Amino acid sequence: MRIHNFSAGPATLPLSVLETIQKELLDFRNTGMSIMEMSHRSKDFVGLLEEIKARFVKLTGLPDTHDLLFLQGGASLQFSMVPMNLYLENKPVDFIHTGVWTKKALAELKKIGAHNMVATGENEGFLKLPRVDNIQLNPDASYVYMCSNNTIYGTQWQTFPDTKDVPLVADMSSDILSKPMDFSKFGLVFAGAQKNLGPSGVTLVVIRKDLVERTNPALPSMLQYGVHLGENSLYNTPPTFGIYVLGLVLKWIEDQGGLEALEKTNQKKAKKLYDFIDEHPFYTCPVDAADRSLMNAVFRVTSKDEALEKQLVSEADKAGISGIKGHRLVGGLRASIYNALEERSIDALIQFLNEFAKKNG
Ligand SMILES: *Cc1c(COP(=O)(O)O)cnc(C)c1O
Repeated sequence: MRIHNFSAGPATLPLSVLETIQKELLDFRNTGMSIMEMSHRSKDFVGLLEEIKARFVKLTGLPDTHDLLFLQGGASLQFSMVPMNLYLENKPVDFIHTGVWTKKALAELKKIGAHNMVATGENEGFLKLPRVDNIQLNPDASYVYMCSNNTIYGTQWQTFPDTKDVPLVADMSSDILSKPMDFSKFGLVFAGAQKNLGPSGVTLVVIRKDLVERTNPALPSMLQYGVHLGENSLYNTPPTFGIYVLGLVLKWIEDQGGLEALEKTNQKKAKKLYDFIDEHPFYTCPVDAADRSLMNAVFRVTSKDEALEKQLVSEADKAGISGIKGHRLVGGLRASIYNALEERSIDALIQFLNEFAKKNG
């Protein structure tokens, strides 16, 4: 029996995707082998890769100034690869700090170059985002760095700063393809696949192709965007199984009606949950209403009673509701409600929370 899976990542996948994997596992498209057993240079795999790229372009309208890379090392390796490849001497990065994941990215950036902290949510405990209009950007920055959805604090940017000629770099690990997004406005976007795109082990990078000219050729080949770009992500063996599943997820998005349709569903799901939390005195959402994430709903029992929250998580588990413990750094509760999480799981969570409040209120 499949449970209601609110895991923050690796996260729930569409059931139809899992069923297709199961169906194709022993024999991928009449090749007589599984996708895992196939050369990454075979006609079948290279064809699949092109199919997946074309599908992403169709879903997002990505212009041919940009290209896609399928890399390894997770979003965390991008914290290093971005400054290693894009940092320009004496041009500090304009950095926007909104939580744990930007903190980790900043620590890696500091090993490579300088930055200006142009906006930070630290004084608000990261429960509120800086206002886009108030951010003063430096026209001479190497790039502007930000995280589009703060998985741990439950905040999500609704708009992005206009960085003019300075490339905008965004960590979109936890909200990529959750709504229509104009990737042409970004110099580089990266996302570990395990939240909204597929299994762990593959990292999607969307890069404006001209930016690879910045890279010092002395950098290890595996760490150069240009090397991966020049070889169409086949410089070495890519994570073939993860790429295949990512392709099935893109197909699933297409079958849902594309990104506009997904956005509507995501808004409906999130509103249902936040409305319940706001209206029920037993629960509280600490995140500023304007900045709440459609992907990660962070909340608490209003009394902030940690023992009660622990009991709630344990009873939820027994009721087939998994993964609602808050991140260890912030505590409380969190329901990750990514693209693949079905509305009926939101209904089940609300029903459970309601009953728990009745018993313990
Ligand atoms: C999960 C997550 C990461 C870390 O991803 P890894 O693939 O484990 O390195 C980075 N940034 C954000 C926003 C995340 O949600």
